[in-house]
Amino acid sequence: MHELACPTCGTSAQYDFKNYLLICPFCSETFRHNVESGEKEPFLDHYIVPNTMAPKAVRDMVIEWLKRLHHTPSSVDKEYVVASVQGLSIPFWVISLEAHTEWSGLAQRRHKIQDHGGGSDFLKEAGKFRRTYRWAINARDNICELWNIARLHEPKEKIRINWDGFPLDSTFSRGHVEKPQSDRSAYDAKEPFEFKFSNGLPISGVEVDEESAIRRATQQVDHYHHLIAGQYVDYLINCRTEIEVAGIQLIHLPFWHVTYYYRPKSALRHFYKPSVKNVLIEGYSSGVLHGELAITRKDKIGVNAVVTGISAIFLFMMGAAWHPAFFLVAAFSGAISVASLYMSALKSRDAALPQSAVHGGTSTLPVEPTRVEAA
Ligand SMILES: [Zn+2]
Repeated sequence: MHELACPTCGTSAQYDFKNYLLICPFCSETFRHNVESGEKEPFLDHYIVPNTMAPKAVRDMVIEWLKRLHHTPSSVDKEYVVASVQGLSIPFWVISLEAHTEWSGLAQRRHKIQDHGGGSDFLKEAGKFRRTYRWAINARDNICELWNIARLHEPKEKIRINWDGFPLDSTFSRGHVEKPQSDRSAYDAKEPFEFKFSNGLPISGVEVDEESAIRRATQQVDHYHHLIAGQYVDYLINCRTEIEVAGIQLIHLPFWHVTYYYRPKSALRHFYKPSVKNVLIEGYSSGVLHGELAITRKDKIGVNAVVTGISAIFLFMMGAAWHPAFFLVAAFSGAISVASLYMSALKSRDAALPQSAVHGGTSTLPVEPTRVEAA
């Protein structure tokens, strides 16, 4: 840490020089500091999306979210325990860009043509599309500071993403448990940066520079458009994306990370081992960005396997001691148990696959891609 006087208000404060931009804790001025020359240059394009939530409201919202997903909402208050609520205002470089993509490729015919040589089963297709984004790139060196914060892009196409950037507008407008109080988008609600708009959330420092942010954003959009184009054909031959960057701003965005436990009061508690589950919420319009459910279908199938397995043993003993008809019921129960175990194992394998994001049931269903007319 180094002591430095603010170029605007002149107050001295301690600064960490590993940050790319420095923020005065007294007047909220953001500036760049050249360590060698000692020169200080104000940075003007710094905004903040206000945090509108307090820890209690966040906790209540998670309970409400669990109630909506639970088959007996009245038991949620008794069976779910919120363990921690942590908020953070994280800086993102928001890059306004327009991307034009032209693609061509081969699509397989639905009906095979008889008496033709090889290759005639394919049709040449081509098309183009254009999209604009406010693409957000985390300005922290550690992009995984909060649970699942590096997985905020949920494309409407059936595409598995492996980048951390996301379109600001679609991410900050989903996952609402209640209808948001304001219909202003998070981007429109941003204010010139001042600490007071974080409403108590700690402000994280800016560690990444604009140049790296633009490079990452253009790479991610290029990759994304390549995957979109790949959906139109079976073999993508050419795909070219031109990206025009219109502007870049630094915006601090509010997030809340909540952990909770599920302690069932029913017979399920004998089979269910409580573990910490996570929920990530945006603090502007209170959308649930990601959420883990305490009890999934896999857990239920697992419990089923145990219960039917035990009853199979019991029925088998009844068969041996009393009447052979019980053997038949025991065999049936045993078969269900084995089938449940097998399904449970399948679910575990699916869950272990990479990039299978865990959704809390609030995300929208995948939408079929709209086909672009071939040119
Ligand atoms: Zn100052």
